[in-house]
Amino acid sequence: MSDQAFYTGLQQNLSTLREQGLFKPERVLASRQGAEVVADDGRTLINMCANNYLGLSGDPETQKAAAAALEKYGYGLSSVRFICGTQTVHKELERALSDFLGTEDTILYAAAFDANGGVFEPLFDENDAIISDALNHASIIDGIRLCKAARYRYANNDMADLEKQLLAATDAGKRHKIIVTDGVFSMDGTIAQLDKICDLADKYGALTMIDESHASGFMGKTGRGTHEHCGVMGRIDIITGTLGKALGGAMGGFTSGRKEVIETLRQKSRPYLFSNSLAPMIAGASLSVLDRISKSTELRDRLHENTAYFRKEIERIGFTIKSGTHPVVPVMLFDAPVAQKFAARMFELGVLLSGFFYPVVPMGQARVRVQLSAAHTREQLDKVLAAFEQAGRELGIIK
Ligand SMILES: *Cc1c(COP(=O)(O)O)cnc(C)c1O
Repeated sequence: MSDQAFYTGLQQNLSTLREQGLFKPERVLASRQGAEVVADDGRTLINMCANNYLGLSGDPETQKAAAAALEKYGYGLSSVRFICGTQTVHKELERALSDFLGTEDTILYAAAFDANGGVFEPLFDENDAIISDALNHASIIDGIRLCKAARYRYANNDMADLEKQLLAATDAGKRHKIIVTDGVFSMDGTIAQLDKICDLADKYGALTMIDESHASGFMGKTGRGTHEHCGVMGRIDIITGTLGKALGGAMGGFTSGRKEVIETLRQKSRPYLFSNSLAPMIAGASLSVLDRISKSTELRDRLHENTAYFRKEIERIGFTIKSGTHPVVPVMLFDAPVAQKFAARMFELGVLLSGFFYPVVPMGQARVRVQLSAAHTREQLDKVLAAFEQAGRELGIIK
């Protein structure tokens, strides 16, 4: 407590963030997660900013499965996996995830952040090259930093630039090359062009890795993910993803792929070796989620119906969106203060959504991001659209 300058510096930085409008306050909910939530002031809001794509966060059936696993396996393990922290429910979930994704084996982590943080360093070294999309998630960027491999970056979703980087890595004589991309980019709802990426990987003898955090459970005809959506199941070497979004929404992550890859990670991946086992109730609930969405595509179908409806109606009202098919719908407002005012007005009108502006998105690309869920009813979506129309008129965004 003798270095007062340290604390003064932090106070100044925090003030600067507040002045620049970049301070991130926490929104406190007094209810469970869902299509509707209760704010801590008691108001009910329609929630349009959760990653609750299949509506399984707060879902009673998922909760029941968690309760059953809690009853059978207890609260926690006080151990990492390899000492005394592996239960049958963890092995069953790893098997079920492999079957769901179409891979040989899967390893669980406490979060996708850990899966990405622990995937590169055990598999690649200074002789290798990692070729990464410029908009990849922070956890991929951090994971790559922890590894000695040479780094190559290609412009977001730009296949010509990817090929240029593959050529550069080949010319540099790199032993192994791996192309790494988010399956879906969460700011724009853009879907990676995995068919072209796999073709380029074949051409240059490269491996492929996708992060399926915004895709597992609902992209593709049966919800397997972006690899199913793009018709490249069986052509992706490594898949990482989260249990904290569509697949139940509590927490947890995974890496999936060939058995020698997963076996190596079990021996060497630091977040796996030095961090606690996934709580058994999360593993049990995730198993029930996978079982449910493997038997029926009802939730996935409802999500895509809601998405198509919202995308069509919001454009009809007169708003500009980034076109696409993903349940992430960026409603473009372009100007940062307008986006802030708009989100605040929507909050008053009973709709929870988040505004994004520079530096989170490029300058002049300010927006509010809507995320659809299978849990939204048509009535709720119509209320949200009416609020968009009202706020849009008031702020002069639409006529
Ligand atoms: C959310 C997200 C993560 C982190 O997931 P957690 O399980 O919450 O750590 C990683 N990658 C991508 C692409 C994400 O969207």
